[in-house]
Amino acid sequence: MAEALNKVFIEVEVDDSVAGDAALAAKLEEVCPVDIYKDAGGRVEVVEQNLDECVLCRLCIEASPPGAVRVKKLYDDSELS
Ligand code: SF4
Repeated sequence: MAEALNKVFIEVEVDDSVAGDAALAAKLEEVCPVDIYKDAGGRVEVVEQNLDECVLCRLCIEASPPGAVRVKKLYDDSELS
């Protein structure tokens, strides 16, 4: 039961080509309203424990180069990109 409650429904993928982009890391940390991205010394870090707070606002997608960030909705097998 506890395991079911802790299930993660959102997965975020950051392409390797942009993971080390310091400007993007800062931008993503700034735009995501629920702190899913962290600027880890110039690298994009995904804060796993915040993933299920995602409100599907697309701000991270719009802040990134096309295809660089994907927000996957695991519950219906679709994604924002
Ligand atoms: S869609 Fe919005 S809430 Fe979800 S990770 Fe992107 S910026 Fe954050």
